[in-house]
Amino acid sequence: MSQSPYMPMIDAITSHNKARNAEDKANRRLQSTIGKVVCVGRNYAAHARELGNDVPSTPLLFMKPASSVVSIHNDIRRPDPAIYGDTHYETELCIQLAADLSQASPEQAQQAIGAVTLGLDLTLRDLQSKLKAKGEPWERAKCFDGACVLADWIDPQACADFSAVNYQLYINNALKQDGDTSLMLFSVYELLSAISHAFSLQAGDVIMTGTPSGVGMLHAGDRLLLKLGAHEWQSQVR
Ligand code: ZN
Repeated sequence: MSQSPYMPMIDAITSHNKARNAEDKANRRLQSTIGKVVCVGRNYAAHARELGNDVPSTPLLFMKPASSVVSIHNDIRRPDPAIYGDTHYETELCIQLAADLSQASPEQAQQAIGAVTLGLDLTLRDLQSKLKAKGEPWERAKCFDGACVLADWIDPQACADFSAVNYQLYINNALKQDGDTSLMLFSVYELLSAISHAFSLQAGDVIMTGTPSGVGMLHAGDRLLLKLGAHEWQSQVR
């Protein structure tokens, strides 16, 4: 029997599906190690200003579900821009807790930090603006599958002093975000303490500590480089 002329196409689809399945598996594995993802809005004054927002007097909190978490080692996928509008990147220092925290002091919070990395709080900015204008919650703009991109967890000793951590996002070799935790309105330990007074945090929970200024739109083909001290990670936008 002669080979179907469609075989190359079928092979391509099969290998694409295999790659997609492997990605899904890796993401599921990562998601299973995470409880909730607590995010902090407007924790850098310059970023609050760039979006025309006031600086908050208490931390602005929202959450992403574990189902939104994906590894940076996979390509970054945006919801269809034709339907959902622009997807913005927000590069953030992320903490994973190794212990539960409830009504904790900043000192107790410090002891509970299990790992640290960088993440992208992906945001459907056009949709978020509409939701904000209507006074509606942000979940539709912040919780989609793939909305929380995480790099590899590293030992928190890499950030010996959490009040002086520098991190960067480059897109297509251009510096887009230059994070410096000394510019945070609420320090990492204050944040963890404040969140634990609002609701309990559990081992495995992730905290995204807010984005510095420089947020912007992702485009198909963009090459991202995230740097945290000696650690760096690359990814590409589909
Ligand atoms: Zn954010």
